[in-house]
Amino acid sequence: MTDIMRMSELYVPTLKEDPADAEIASHRLLVRAGMIRKAASGVYTFLPLGKKVLAKVESIVRSEMDGIGAQEIMMPVLQPAELWHESGRWDDYGPELMRLVDRHDRPFCLGPTHEEIITALVRNELRSYKQLPLSLYQIQVKFRDEIRPRFGLLRGREFIMKDAYSFHDSQESLQQTYDDMSAAYGRICERMDLDYRPVEADSGQIGGSVTCEFMALADAGEAELVHCSCGYAANTEAGEGLARPTEYTAADALTKIATPDVHTIAELAAFLDIPESSTVKALSGKGKDGVITVFFVPGDHDLNELKAARVVEGFELLTDEEMEAAGLHKGSMGPVGLPEGVRIVAASSLQAIPRWVVGANEDGYHYVGAKQGEDFEVDVWADLVVVKPGDCCPKCGLPLEGARGIEVSQVFQLGDKYSKSMGATFSAEDGSEQNFLMGCYGVGISRSMAAIVEQHNDENGIFWPVSVAPAHVCVIPLNVGDEEVQPAAERLAADIARAGFEVVIDDRDERAGVKFADADLIGWPLQIVVGKRGLKEGKVEIKLRRTGEKRDISIAAVAEALA
Ligand code: ATP
Ligand code: MG
Ligand code: MG
Ligand code: MG
Repeated sequence: MTDIMRMSELYVPTLKEDPADAEIASHRLLVRAGMIRKAASGVYTFLPLGKKVLAKVESIVRSEMDGIGAQEIMMPVLQPAELWHESGRWDDYGPELMRLVDRHDRPFCLGPTHEEIITALVRNELRSYKQLPLSLYQIQVKFRDEIRPRFGLLRGREFIMKDAYSFHDSQESLQQTYDDMSAAYGRICERMDLDYRPVEADSGQIGGSVTCEFMALADAGEAELVHCSCGYAANTEAGEGLARPTEYTAADALTKIATPDVHTIAELAAFLDIPESSTVKALSGKGKDGVITVFFVPGDHDLNELKAARVVEGFELLTDEEMEAAGLHKGSMGPVGLPEGVRIVAASSLQAIPRWVVGANEDGYHYVGAKQGEDFEVDVWADLVVVKPGDCCPKCGLPLEGARGIEVSQVFQLGDKYSKSMGATFSAEDGSEQNFLMGCYGVGISRSMAAIVEQHNDENGIFWPVSVAPAHVCVIPLNVGDEEVQPAAERLAADIARAGFEVVIDDRDERAGVKFADADLIGWPLQIVVGKRGLKEGKVEIKLRRTGEKRDISIAAVAEALA
């Protein structure tokens, strides 16, 4: 393509000053670079350059979705309340759901997500196992009446999401698509040049159990996590602390108790002078570092006996009063409402977790002193993932690093949650009617754009990765109207465009300083400065925005490089 964008014509209202309401870099810079404008709290207009970036993010996501065989559709934003009553979410979703009525007083909502619409779509049309698996996706505006819309595009009330939904006749098939989607989500992050971590996480509003969030690391992120160079990462937010349990052998789980002499279940049993057994007990205490820790340990001994045993050197067991003071009594240890500063270092069985979640708020069922005896088997261990920065990585043992993250995308296995409540069935190979198994997969398109800026900015502005930049190259003639400089810049821009790059020429009659400042603020990856002095020697200056690296090169060399 040979179109050249012209700064003299483009609507790019850049600002010298930061907007008063902008607390973080992406919000400040996207507004200042003339890419977005606020229309209302959490509601933004995308100006021409912002729209170009958005389109690039969309096209990366679209190509990855098409690449794994998902088919693009477009569902309505306006959704009838009846479908939400069927799924039960009209009542469950709460005030985040934007509700409205039409002129006949019929209730609707503006879609925050599309499980209801798509389940209703397929239940009438997708009849046979032969049509499965099927993945459908859309890229569309979503509405959520967030309690705290803020940070510009990071948490809007109207925002753009890619949402995909898959339908299956077996768990294996669902797992396959979930894995394909997860891999595609990793590639999407990489193509956007995001430093990210896949984090197994809580399933929140949507429901279902198997899920993973893709977190772009950024101080502005609202999520808290720990991660390790081996690839392990976990969400540590209160309430979301119970990430999807990872399965461990008992021995693996116990190596997490980083004591000097106890590394295996056998060593622990020997240390406590108890026989290895099939039950789990809990011990709470304060370590040398002052951190309160709850250990889950194997043993069919009385809890009091365990309490009498010294587990770790310098580890003092807590009295009941001290536990209460630390907020550790009764329900406080449930995954919802774990007191801050408490660390859980061992594990219990996968099967036990629902019981804990339920039982944690009942008398006699808090972890310490819980009637655990026969409840918890030690042959399968689950990671409760309330790990903190500095703790040992449960996978490799290195110290975990703390970080903040922006959730840019998430994959879920929904199972039959929606197909069951909404009666969506197909006829299986054996002739029986079965509920679909479903997955859903969301990418925050507009949020990703902001996340990219969070990771790609400096004191002068944005530096876009080439893959999403509003154009690749900005040609800056220093003296517009000069009879040599202007035509030379135009020729160069045309050559670059012909070679397949996207070019903008800053043909405004502005001072060089203004043009440089705008180019840095907007963040074109490459700047080419054409000036009178250089031209005399047949040279232009190129500058890599990302590193600031500058070099004088001959126009002939540019032409050669492009040929
Ligand atoms: P959060 O935890 O940040 O509230 P979520 O878990 O509620 O997000 P999902 O329902 O998983 O969001 O939606 C899929 C994706 O949509 C998210 O991973 C995120 O990138 C994006 N998204 C969700 N809420 C917003 C929002 N208010 N503004 C911009 N993007 C959003
Ligand atoms: Mg949310
Ligand atoms: Mg979330
Ligand atoms: Mg989410």
